[in-house]
Amino acid sequence: MTHQDLSPATRLVSLGRQERIPGAGVNARLELSSTYVADGPVNYARAGNPTWSAFEEALGSLEGGDALVFASGMAAVAAALSLVDHGGVVVAPRSAYNGTVATLLDAERDGRFEVRWVDPADTSATVDAVEGSDLVWLESPSNPLLEVADLTALASAASRAGAISVCDNTFATPLVQRPLALGVDVVVHSVTKYLSGHSDLILGATVTGAGDRGRNLHDRLSHHRLLGGAIAGPMETWLALRGLRTLHVRLERATANARELADRLARHPHVQRVRYPGFGAIVSIEVPGGADGAERVAGATQLWTHSTSLGGVESQIERRRRHPAEPVAVPQELLRLSVGIEDVEDLWADLDQALVG
Ligand SMILES: *Cc1c(COP(=O)(O)O)cnc(C)c1O
Repeated sequence: MTHQDLSPATRLVSLGRQERIPGAGVNARLELSSTYVADGPVNYARAGNPTWSAFEEALGSLEGGDALVFASGMAAVAAALSLVDHGGVVVAPRSAYNGTVATLLDAERDGRFEVRWVDPADTSATVDAVEGSDLVWLESPSNPLLEVADLTALASAASRAGAISVCDNTFATPLVQRPLALGVDVVVHSVTKYLSGHSDLILGATVTGAGDRGRNLHDRLSHHRLLGGAIAGPMETWLALRGLRTLHVRLERATANARELADRLARHPHVQRVRYPGFGAIVSIEVPGGADGAERVAGATQLWTHSTSLGGVESQIERRRRHPAEPVAVPQELLRLSVGIEDVEDLWADLDQALVG
C-alpha cells in the first residue's frame, strides 16, 4: 500500500512520522540543532531540518507535489514572487490578502515589475491580461471577498503564455482544492491558518508539481529560502504538523457550522449581504451603519473573538477595512467571520445578540 492509495484524511494522520523500528518515537522528531556532523545529507540547519522534512512530506502528499516550509505565509509569498525577474510582468488580483497586495504595490512603485491588476473571478478579462505576462497570481477563494477563480482555465492560459501560475490555497486547503492537479505551477499557504489550526504559530509553505518544470521551480524556491534565510523554526514546524493531524475533522466541523450560519445570516434582518462560496469555513457579511456599525458588532461579541487572522479552532470576527492596507474593493462595513468548531447554537446566539445590539 503506497500513500497515494490512502485518502487525504488518512494521509494527514499517517505521513511525516519516524521509521517504524523498535523503540522509535511515533511522532516526528523535534530537531533542535543548528549544525550536523559532517558528511551527512545536510550540514547546516538553514539548508534542512528533519522536522521540516516531516511536515513537507505530509503537506506535499496532500497537495500532490513537493512542499517547502517557510517562516511565514508572507515569506512563501515573497519566495513565489522571487520567480519573476526584475522588469517582468505580473497579473494580480485587485482584491486578495492585503499583505500580498501591499507587496505587489511596493514592487510596482519601486519599478521591480509591472503589475496588471485584474478581477480573477472574471475569467475572460483575466485570460486577456495573461498574454505576455511572466507570472499570474491567484487566490481562491479570495480573502475576504470569497471570490472564486476558474483555476483550470487561468492556469492553462498562463501555461500557453509561458507564465508561471501561483495559487494561494490558504482558504480552501488541499482537502477542498488541489491547484497543482488543475494545472497551477506553485501553491502558496499561510500555514498559520487552517493547516496548523490553533492560532499559536506563524508559518508558510510552497508546493510545486512533478516533472522538470516543477523540479526547477522547487529548486529556485529552495535556493531563495536558503539564501533569503526566511526559514521556519523547528518548534513551529513541529506544532504545525501536530495541528495538521486534525485538519480533516476540524474543517468538517467548521464547514458544517459555517454553512448553517451562512444560511441563518442570509435571513437575519440586521445583515445586508452574506458572502459564502458554498465550501470552507469563512463567511463575510455586510451590516448596516457603515464602518461604525460593523465595529460595534465586532466589539459586542462575547464568544467570538474580536481579532485578526483566521483558521483556528476558535471563532473570530473582524472588520477588515480597519487595516489601512486592506484593498478598497473591500466594503467598509464588511465583517469577516472565521467560523470555528464550537457548538453552532452558541455561535449563533452570540452573533445574533451582537447584530441586534
Ligand atoms: C494570512 C494570509 C497570508 C499571510 O500569511 P502569514 O502566515 O500571516 O504570513 C497569505 N495569504 C492569505 C490568504 C492569508 O490569509
